[in-house]
Amino acid sequence: MDRIERLQFSDRKSMIKDELKNVIEKNELYILYQPQINTLSNEITGIEALLRWDNSKLGSVSPVEFIPIAEDLDYIVDLGNWVMDKALRQAWVWKRKGYKFNTISVNVSPIQINKENFKKNLLNIINKYNIPRNFLEIEITEGIIIDINKEKIDMLTEIMNSGISIALDDFGTGYSSLSYLINIPVNTLKIDKIFIDNINSDKSKILIKGIVSLSKSLKYKIIVEGVETKEQLELLTNIGCNTIQGFYFSEPLSENEMENLLKINGGVNNI
Ligand code: C2E
Ligand code: CA
Ligand code: CA
Repeated sequence: MDRIERLQFSDRKSMIKDELKNVIEKNELYILYQPQINTLSNEITGIEALLRWDNSKLGSVSPVEFIPIAEDLDYIVDLGNWVMDKALRQAWVWKRKGYKFNTISVNVSPIQINKENFKKNLLNIINKYNIPRNFLEIEITEGIIIDINKEKIDMLTEIMNSGISIALDDFGTGYSSLSYLINIPVNTLKIDKIFIDNINSDKSKILIKGIVSLSKSLKYKIIVEGVETKEQLELLTNIGCNTIQGFYFSEPLSENEMENLLKINGGVNNI
């Protein structure tokens, strides 16, 4: 990066910082929803909530750019609670309309998990809408494992025992040792797109097969992320991965688009 680029970069970063301050009050945030599909039945099994930000000065800012800044500034706690509240409420509206799907997945930052009142906040939101706990899956990343301690493991275990599912996101991209799986309570592994991008290589295939067989033995569910082509889908089906999320089936969708997909996809369920 040369001097001008560095200046532009730091200007943009400080603008993002400024603009993030009242982002909730300014009504600039919204959520897109991406379906997770069972490829055997072609049904939507879950929906992941993905945060979006359209700012009056900066335009649309990717979460890849603003989430780390929100984490640095601790704003992520308020943003995270906002997403949890909105996504759960919306998903529960869909569920009550009778659409078929099992879970809504919400990304949770390690900074949120480090806060003392994380579990309390989470349960408060669920109780506010009277939602069954097993309707929610939280997605955590290997990042939380770096400084995990017994207290946090106990807290996550309590969350899991309360009925909420825990998914380990971006699985395989961190540098932690696999031995953490012994300690961390996990229901679902989300295999990162990086494996899928290289799925034609024998090594990637072997790795995915290994993860699938490990997951079966450990009774984890598997979701493969970033599936974009029919060829990838077929290879994954042969390996035994049956739940996928990716552009091949659907990009993240607006509320209305997601509802339309729910209407045509699984039909309506009587609950
Ligand atoms: P993630 O949790 O791994 O989410 C999956 C990302 O991959 C999303 O990017 C999604 O749009 C994208 N994606 C899905 N299928 C495909 C595909 O087939 N091909 C390609 N190329 N991409 C695909 P997005 O929405 O830009 O989000 C990026 C990251 O930002 C997320 O990665 C997550 O780490 C973070 N993020 C998004 N929303 C939230 C949130 O509410 N809270 C927190 N803490 N983080 C969030
Ligand atoms: Ca995720
Ligand atoms: Ca991911």
